[in-house]
Amino acid sequence: MLPGKEDVKISQHIVAIEQLRKVYRVGDQKIIALDNISLQIPRGEICCILGTSGSGKSTLLNMMAGLEKPTRGSILIRGHDIAKMNERQLARFRQKYIGFIFQSYNLLPTLNALENVSLPLTFRGINKTARDKQASKMLEAVGLKKYREHKPSQMSGGQQQRVGIARAFVSNPPVVFADEPTGNLDSRTSTEVMELIVEMAHRKQQTLIIVTHDPNVAGYADRIVRILDGNIERIENNPRNEVNIS
Ligand code: ADP
Ligand code: MG
Repeated sequence: MLPGKEDVKISQHIVAIEQLRKVYRVGDQKIIALDNISLQIPRGEICCILGTSGSGKSTLLNMMAGLEKPTRGSILIRGHDIAKMNERQLARFRQKYIGFIFQSYNLLPTLNALENVSLPLTFRGINKTARDKQASKMLEAVGLKKYREHKPSQMSGGQQQRVGIARAFVSNPPVVFADEPTGNLDSRTSTEVMELIVEMAHRKQQTLIIVTHDPNVAGYADRIVRILDGNIERIENNPRNEVNIS
């Protein structure tokens, strides 16, 4: 294939990973967390990375989100190779392009719900009135209009995760990552949280990449990437969501 055509093909994918490898060294031990992973994710897809504990899911996600550096390989997000960026460039890149939802919410305990949600906007030079308005709108969208003044400790796990979801989407990042977003929640709350995450991503056709060990969570994805011992075991389209696949 002509090099030009190859470039076009790659640019249609919002995330393109080539031959990614991550080796940790602990003492004289070598741990191959990711062996050799290549994966392309098209814009607007809901992609789930499914695997058992220790299979390398978080390592993969953290590298795609620019939180960790690979030992080898490239990670293109919107055509930018984030594996080559320095910390400052990465920080700026994350603010602009990436939202992140954590298993344990990672809200700042001294800030209330509104302040937590508006935090990503403060790095963007948006004035306080506009920030509060945007954050308020997001809190309303996740069903927490009355909880603006609540601190994390005054909310349930499900409510805290809703705040986490509002924070991840408030700045409209093209890619949102979620690492075991329902890992600390009961099954009913998990369903509510997953429906909300998917609804938020669909609103503005954002790309959503979810890591989980839970097949129920994977059921919300367009495509399921099974990982085992740091390699892709297989990739399957989710028949339930077939209509969403272009
Ligand atoms: P998962 O999220 O699928 O449970 P991880 O990506 O957290 O798996 O871990 C994959 C492998 O890499 C595991 O064997 C884990 O012990 C190891 N690992 C993860 N992070 C580190 C680290 N910072 N230092 C050393 N080993 C690590
Ligand atoms: Mg993990």
